[in-house]
Amino acid sequence: MKIHEFQAKEILRQAGVYVPKSIVAKTPAEASDAFTKLGGDLAVVKAQIHAGGRGKGTVKTNPNQRGVQLVKSAADAAKVAEGLLGKTLVTIQTGPAGTVVNQVLVEEGCNIARELYLGIVVDRAASKPVLMVSQQGGMDIEKVAHDTPELIFKEHFDPDLGLMSYQTRKLSQLLGLKGHSVRSADKFMRGLCKVFVEKDCSLLEINPLVVTGDGELLALDAKMTFDDNALFRHPDIQAYRDKGEEEPAETRAGEAGLSYVKLDGNIGCLVNGAGLAMSTMDLIQLHGGMPANFLDVGGGANVQQVTEAFRILLADKNTQAVLVNIFGGIMRCTTIATAILEAYQTVGFNVPLVVRLEGTEVEEGRKLLANSSLAIISANGLTDAAQKVVAAAKAR
Ligand code: ADP
Ligand code: MG
Repeated sequence: MKIHEFQAKEILRQAGVYVPKSIVAKTPAEASDAFTKLGGDLAVVKAQIHAGGRGKGTVKTNPNQRGVQLVKSAADAAKVAEGLLGKTLVTIQTGPAGTVVNQVLVEEGCNIARELYLGIVVDRAASKPVLMVSQQGGMDIEKVAHDTPELIFKEHFDPDLGLMSYQTRKLSQLLGLKGHSVRSADKFMRGLCKVFVEKDCSLLEINPLVVTGDGELLALDAKMTFDDNALFRHPDIQAYRDKGEEEPAETRAGEAGLSYVKLDGNIGCLVNGAGLAMSTMDLIQLHGGMPANFLDVGGGANVQQVTEAFRILLADKNTQAVLVNIFGGIMRCTTIATAILEAYQTVGFNVPLVVRLEGTEVEEGRKLLANSSLAIISANGLTDAAQKVVAAAKAR
């Protein structure tokens, strides 16, 4: 799950990590008030969407309006907020469709001496979280990682012990920090690593991490993503969820207990088990097709879940054919066959359906489908299934 910048900064503030003062605004009048309340002569108005690249991003209907903008008066703050609120912001991360801005963050202007980069992710190969820093902050870190990986410094840390001071000293030296900043960096980095573990983050990124004119370290931007499997133990974080920012079909699937990711192709896939779903997608591509989605109904899906899965697949207007690929382990093939028949009645199929069943109660399941009068294309084995569904989609 993703959250907004202002929410991530709230979490950091509570954890004692230094972030600038800021106030959320939903109207131009609130933005004006916020500027006055902050009390400085400089502030920044920042669009709040679940995507980065806002500083360079522009509003669809007005290419002069950027997603992050400096303002010098309350009237200015109101004007920029007016230019952003309710408008569609397009950034390198939103894709060309962009995202509608429903709120802005008015933040005190910061005296920036240097812009650094800091990120924490889980390194699966090392089975540990890893802190990464670079002097190349504020810019496209993916490009730095690709072109000049030697400019990114990494320290793994034990989730129970946290980041150690010797590690922060080492990183401070590599970042060229001096004097007071070294102490500030120690508190900052160790605080962030603690938040990462305590909140079950999958990503915590501060870009830019700023060194102020006074040598303090400060999180000027904050991106936080959480491990969905751990959300049950963080009701406070669940409350931050903004469904308006999510792909509606993915939200719907999540509510039905299905794992669904929308993709760009035209072949809908309904599969049980993530591994089987991945190999099904690979085989479709191998035979010249493109999957419209990843969908794992799980090991123990029931008829209602499978019916809902069909509804989601068929609601996607890109879907030209559907492949059901089930290996009955815990799930019985008769359950899936029953669900297919029921879905056919209630959802209504407007595209060809290819079904490959294997495993528990496979004979009974196949019989159920064969005895129905429905136009189902049955397949023997994965390759046959992939070839048939690609052909069916192409024929349309
Ligand atoms: P994004 O990553 O979405 O472009 P950022 O929050 O990183 O958004 O902001 C983009 C740039 O705007 C930063 O690199 C920084 O130079 C500037 N900026 C952001 N917030 C402030 C602030 N409070 N004071 C001064 N400059 C800021
Ligand atoms: Mg940023």
